[in-house]
Amino acid sequence: MQLYNTLGQTKQEFIPYEQGKVKMYTCGPTVYHYAHIGNLRTYIMEDILEKQLRFLGYDVTRAMNITDVGHLSSDGDTGEDKMLSGAKREHKTVLEIAKFYTDAFFDDCKKLNIKKPDIIEPATGCIDSFIEMIDELLKKGYAYQAGGNVYFDTSRLESYYVFGNQSEEDLAVGVRDSVEEDGNKRNKADFVLWFTKSKFDDQELKWESPWGYGYPGWHIECSAISIKNLGEHLDIHCGGIDNAFPHHTNEIAQSEAYLGHPWCKYWFHVLHLNDARGKMSKSKGDFLTVSLLEEKGYNPLVYRMFCLQSHYRKPLTFSFESLDNVAKAYAKLVGRISALSDSGDIDEEKCRPYLDAFNEAMSNDLNTAQAITSLYDVLKADLNDAEKRYLIGEFDKVLSLSLLDGGNSAQSDGGDDAEIEELIAKRAQARKEKDWATADAIRNELNARNIVIEDTPEGIKWRRA
Ligand code: AMP
Ligand code: ZN
Repeated sequence: MQLYNTLGQTKQEFIPYEQGKVKMYTCGPTVYHYAHIGNLRTYIMEDILEKQLRFLGYDVTRAMNITDVGHLSSDGDTGEDKMLSGAKREHKTVLEIAKFYTDAFFDDCKKLNIKKPDIIEPATGCIDSFIEMIDELLKKGYAYQAGGNVYFDTSRLESYYVFGNQSEEDLAVGVRDSVEEDGNKRNKADFVLWFTKSKFDDQELKWESPWGYGYPGWHIECSAISIKNLGEHLDIHCGGIDNAFPHHTNEIAQSEAYLGHPWCKYWFHVLHLNDARGKMSKSKGDFLTVSLLEEKGYNPLVYRMFCLQSHYRKPLTFSFESLDNVAKAYAKLVGRISALSDSGDIDEEKCRPYLDAFNEAMSNDLNTAQAITSLYDVLKADLNDAEKRYLIGEFDKVLSLSLLDGGNSAQSDGGDDAEIEELIAKRAQARKEKDWATADAIRNELNARNIVIEDTPEGIKWRRA
């Protein structure tokens, strides 16, 4: 499989440390608010990567952290803690906020058919591992104490900017923070491993440590959680592109300093989802969530398909117009698949070239758009219905669009009654205006939600299938 590696900035043949096994780490959500659909683009594409690796026969173990402490509002080391500001906004404790938004995150993942990682570790449960790692970095001379905090000393490294592609703007974060805001740092790129002093001293969660009562920096959590759960050699580390610098750069610095050898082979970064105002971001406040899409009548899997139609290494611009087009295509696709019968014998030899075409697309740095084309090719092919269903079922092990389940993710119950009635009214209006295309699209959408419509002498009746 060819995979683009940010380390080296080229497409490379994927060869894990240990044959047949893949250790994969994913930066988890910062749980101070709902995940927006931009965050979820990243998790959808990481899910696709994991499922494709499993499809190819790899034994994958995937770990993810939950950032419930230590993520400051600047990607440098300044600003108020995001968790604390979330708690203040909602008049709750940090732990209440963390629990609520962690559950909400996994609910969204379920609706989008995103598999849960094998290992999930909230940062607040791993403080001992962070302390052990920081202690070792101090002993090895890679860290120093200043002004009450512990810092990583980037001048000890042969090379710090390992990805080599940071934009001027990204680099400026480090420069600005160190020069204007943190006089304790010896070098502009140094970063905090453990805080006991910060301008924002009302941090709710603090722990005893050899360096005083305090809390961890953000970057240390992913290194420590990965090494604790996946060992000293990591095959793939994933995240959105904004994580490449400084977060992942700092992770590499501290992990390799701690371990004394190279750590992670492949860095997988998903480009951003943008809207008309630019990058979708939680801190901007008004952002799109899965629940909002559902309220507007979209099946969450339509958003998954929207993501799969673009390459993960290209920025993706969201608009409702494009989502509507995908909704129509998805409803049609699911409708065509539902119409396939189970009849016929499956001739594996006949099916093989279609599986090969799918794998070829996916093994070319996850060309999901091409993989979807190969799905349409199956529908058009000279194959019997049973063969088509078999192939679609195979492809859907990776695509996870619930193609054989009428488009219902594990969660979908079709939406609430008012929403369904509104769609039915819209369909009736379209029929009155002889707008058959719209009427059919709505019927397909309702079918995809498992809603059965019956035209009776008394009018239209509906029920959940
Ligand atoms: P956060 O919850 O802010 O820690 O982010 C969770 C994940 O979403 C990280 O991997 C981020 O890099 C990623 N992310 C943040 N914003 C976007 C966006 N607009 N598009 C795609 N991924 C994003
Ligand atoms: Zn991380």
